[in-house]
Amino acid sequence: MHTRMKKSRSALLASFFALITTTVLAGCKSGERGEITLDEKKSHMIERHLKGRDITDPRVLAAMARVPRERFVPAHLRDEAYGDYPLPIGLGQTISQPYIVATMSQALALKPDEKVLEIGTGSGYQAAILGELAGEVYSVELICELQQRAAGLLEELKYANVHTRCSDGYAGWSEHAPFDAILLTAAPPEIPQALIDQLRPGGRLLAPVGVVLQRLVMLRKDPDGTIRTETSHDVRFVPMVHGERLPGGQ
Ligand code: SAH
Repeated sequence: MHTRMKKSRSALLASFFALITTTVLAGCKSGERGEITLDEKKSHMIERHLKGRDITDPRVLAAMARVPRERFVPAHLRDEAYGDYPLPIGLGQTISQPYIVATMSQALALKPDEKVLEIGTGSGYQAAILGELAGEVYSVELICELQQRAAGLLEELKYANVHTRCSDGYAGWSEHAPFDAILLTAAPPEIPQALIDQLRPGGRLLAPVGVVLQRLVMLRKDPDGTIRTETSHDVRFVPMVHGERLPGGQ
């Protein structure tokens, strides 16, 4: 009697676990062959690589959740779009690791009505994130082929507040200056003076700076024009090159 009861209890337990397993599997949006979907990879990126580190700004987290990063990477790398690493985007350039995009966006603490300049449009991904966070975004890219590709995609995704052009970032974009914030996603050996000049008093500029070793530098221009800088993370970005030194550059 006791044995039979035990048996029926374990049978019950087995069917209970079978039910739970089926429910859990049915509940997840995994692809037909059981592979992990891009939505699941995106959630994992947000939970583990962003919230799990020090990304806490809800606007930045929402922007990272909204922008479809897989559209900004080459088609054959779509499955890797939400990995915790940079990816090649062609022409020797890279799209930054999601955590770095989020860290820089969070550090700029953008307000919805602010005007931002980005140097190094690349794939257009960081520009789209900035477009979610700020009022108007101006982004310049030295390699015209990349700029045109990014412009087409940003238009398709309806980022009407993100404007791009093919030009040398060392000159900034004076027609739209002054900017509330400036973000460099290519590393100059030192912060170009023309960019500091295009920053509004009270504005901030964030840049990877250095040739061999690079550090993120936050520069603030006080309302009285005083410049203050602070250095943080070690990073690795592609170099910010001068237009005339890039083969095929403008
Ligand atoms: N923000 C991009 C990644 C940028 S990679 C993204 O989200 O995908 C850095 C980019 O800076 C490259 O595309 C490179 O061509 C560009 N770049 C390098 N030097 C530059 C310069 N002087 N002016 C403008 N863009 C430059």
